[in-house]
Amino acid sequence: TDAHLKKLDEHRALNAFITETPGKAREMARASDDRRARGEAGLLEGVPLAIKDLFCTEGVQTTAASQILKGFVPQYESTVTANLWKSGAVMVGKTNLDEFAMGSSNMTSHFGGVENPWKRKGDNRKLVPGGSSGGSAAAVAAYMVPGSTGTDTGGSIRQPAAFCGIVGLKPTYGRCSRWGVVAFASSLDQPGPFARTVEDTALMLQAMSGHDPKDSTSAPLPVPDFAAAARDPGIKGMKVGIPKEYRVDGTSEEVVALWATGMDMLKAAGAEPVEVSLPHTKYALPAYYIVAPAECSSNLARYDGVRFGQRVPGKDLTELYENTRGAGFGKETRRRILIGTYVLSAGYYDAYYKKAQQIRALIARDFKEAFEKCDVLLTPTAPTAAFAAGDKMDDPVTMYLNDMFTIPASMAGLPGISVPAGMDKDGLPLGLQLIGRAFDEETLLRAAAALE
Ligand code: GLN
Repeated sequence: TDAHLKKLDEHRALNAFITETPGKAREMARASDDRRARGEAGLLEGVPLAIKDLFCTEGVQTTAASQILKGFVPQYESTVTANLWKSGAVMVGKTNLDEFAMGSSNMTSHFGGVENPWKRKGDNRKLVPGGSSGGSAAAVAAYMVPGSTGTDTGGSIRQPAAFCGIVGLKPTYGRCSRWGVVAFASSLDQPGPFARTVEDTALMLQAMSGHDPKDSTSAPLPVPDFAAAARDPGIKGMKVGIPKEYRVDGTSEEVVALWATGMDMLKAAGAEPVEVSLPHTKYALPAYYIVAPAECSSNLARYDGVRFGQRVPGKDLTELYENTRGAGFGKETRRRILIGTYVLSAGYYDAYYKKAQQIRALIARDFKEAFEKCDVLLTPTAPTAAFAAGDKMDDPVTMYLNDMFTIPASMAGLPGISVPAGMDKDGLPLGLQLIGRAFDEETLLRAAAALE
């Protein structure tokens, strides 16, 4: 823990953390030493971890990277973090993110952007770590911690993992409890781990998972031995689907080449490639940008200046709401709330929200049919490597397009993992994504280990 806290000092300029908790970390590490001395070591005994500042942590400020929650100190612990502490892990701090997890660059944080520890060869410009879980990914990539937590609504674990050259896993919707995680889009949000290897990722997932009666969408399923799956890259005869609709314009040539190399690696390990079709892929992104803002506008209605965080007074209650929300929410959050309230409004509900939900069902059906022919899907994680800070910021649609490969699996609730699989010509890491059947993270981990 001391060694990792020193790394936090060294890399403070990356702005990966919103709150550092060195005192708490040392206290937890001492308690861990005591348990170890009694022979009671848990799965992650003594392992220092960073927690995305979207997970409520008892007695430690939780901001969701929003001005509106600055100073909010939860009186309760999220189920996922409670599970991690039960397994012996140590918290070193709360990591930076896009405000309320809305973004793909970490640039929408009220606390400023996070810098990717990677740089292009011969180019000193700062690059984004991806988002929204950018701080968590950067912290692992810079060796500040061996593991961290993220949340993934449309790609927020997988895309930053790819941009930072680490492993990131979005579990099946319902595998990890959402209780105590600040909600963005409840039907899509899913907590998951980051680590530098597939096996570490599996260990983290094992500790984080499990049925939680406090989250009605949490799956009442036992937690498999994920680490054992990661240690056994036995993929002989595994059928790996290549969805033809993922060959889209705008994907860099290097990413396309890497995709083929990834398939070759899986073939060398005994897997068999199959061409599959997911015909509704192109509708996933537009449908997501209706469903996610709709749920966000509803979830964020609770920040009214009365119950949580900051309050800006007004002459009456309405003005207090308006002043608080006007001052507390950033530009992207306001944009999403406006889109969300629009698509949910009486006259437009059928045309937008209902339509998007119908498309979502078709996307889920595409995957179901594809998984009759294969066991996992292999795709790129993102169309490009990390981009420069500030790029794409003035054009939300270009930014949204960065998630075109991750969003479909989110819409279908399926698990996905991003594995570092190569580099572009500038020396930046590129990731490949594997998508699996619902609650079959074991197959996903096995295939991912074969790509390492
Ligand atoms: N980038 C996507 C968005 O802005 C996904 C974010 C996420 O997964 N939390 O909504």
